[in-house]
Amino acid sequence: MKNLALHWKILIGMVLGILFGLGMTSVPGGAKIVGDWINPFGTIFVKLLKLIAVPLIIASLVKGISDLKDISKFRNIGLRTIGIYIGTTVIAITIGLLLVNIIEPGNGVSEETITKLTDTYANSEGVKSKMQEASKQKNSGPLQFVVDMVPDNALSAMSNNTAMLQVIFFTIFLGISMLLIGEKNAKPLKDFFDSLNEVVLKMVDLIMLSAPFAVFALLANVVVSSNDPDLLVALLKYALTVVGGLLIMISFYMLLVSIFTRKNPFWFLQQLSPAQLLAFSTSSSAATLPVTMERVEEHIGVDKEVSSFVLPVGATINMDGTSLYQAVAAVFISQALGFDLSLSGQLTIIVTALLASIGSAAVPGAGMVMLVIVLESVNFPAEKLAIGLALIFAVDRPLDMCRTVINVTGDATVSALVAKSVGKLHDPKPKNWNDHLDEVKSN
Ligand code: ASP
Repeated sequence: MKNLALHWKILIGMVLGILFGLGMTSVPGGAKIVGDWINPFGTIFVKLLKLIAVPLIIASLVKGISDLKDISKFRNIGLRTIGIYIGTTVIAITIGLLLVNIIEPGNGVSEETITKLTDTYANSEGVKSKMQEASKQKNSGPLQFVVDMVPDNALSAMSNNTAMLQVIFFTIFLGISMLLIGEKNAKPLKDFFDSLNEVVLKMVDLIMLSAPFAVFALLANVVVSSNDPDLLVALLKYALTVVGGLLIMISFYMLLVSIFTRKNPFWFLQQLSPAQLLAFSTSSSAATLPVTMERVEEHIGVDKEVSSFVLPVGATINMDGTSLYQAVAAVFISQALGFDLSLSGQLTIIVTALLASIGSAAVPGAGMVMLVIVLESVNFPAEKLAIGLALIFAVDRPLDMCRTVINVTGDATVSALVAKSVGKLHDPKPKNWNDHLDEVKSN
């Protein structure tokens, strides 16, 4: 067991968690026991990952930029990254639209199922809160997201996990200014951040020691709090359309990796797998970010100059899985509720789903909030919105888990492509959690 690769340990934890959760559903009060006594360990794990996200982004981005020595390289990396992110997202949405139009999952949903889902969810707190959040987002102007990116207080940005882009903005500003004051003057600060970076990566290693147990807790809780299995079956065709699209995206990434980086795509996925398994278990690309960074840098060999920018930015703005899901869900709801979507409506979905995935927070369920905005952009009748969301609510959590895996895989793939294109993809040099342990242990 000791020498088993991390991804196997995590996988075993996940399977045992699912089995345990299933067992507990048949025990009276089982869901409460899991919620009270098991789930907190999963929550602690997610909190620990989030705890180190901000210091890790700052330390690694400062190191990445100050290692560059040349600002024009940074512009090069930035433009490529944004360009490829937009490209992969548009492809993801197009795949979603093609599949949902070919399979037409919405046309097979019976009136009875629609009524049952509407009765169960249309007035539920979950659906209401998604719609409220969406109306808050919608009321802002077109350039609001650029304004929001600039913090007016660096410390308050750093104290807020949802302000990742603000932290990135401040750090890039700091890093570029460090380049401009010259190597000698910047050295003390650079040494500090280099060391902080090493320390935070060690913290990732230590946190990951508990990952197999944490995913057990997270998945057991997902299983005991999941919905009526009959409803899940009624939505199977829709769920399979989303999952099919996500699998096509994974194959697409593998193709990109093998063509452009000349690395074996199966090796690539294997190196990334602990991050993917965590994305699945936590449904949050933001919580997974520290692990994604560690895997991509140490195990895939992407230079920090690239990964320190591409990955945090990707976690916030690049969500291929989410945008594919939004495209499928918007058309599925229209099909099921008999709303006629014209070709121009479908083209509008491409643009709004792209913007929505940029605007979606990297946390569980965020994709569904932005789905409201996608639906409104095609003039979906406002009075049917709650019913539309109710239709897909029952399967949202499992689909969220799957789309988060794609979001994380997409970010990692793009970081490898950009790194290769600027000559910054090296042979990986993994570090272990117990490197230097002997030095600090007295015998
Ligand atoms: N949970 C997703 C993420 O964190 C966002 C979403 O699709 O809801 O990447």
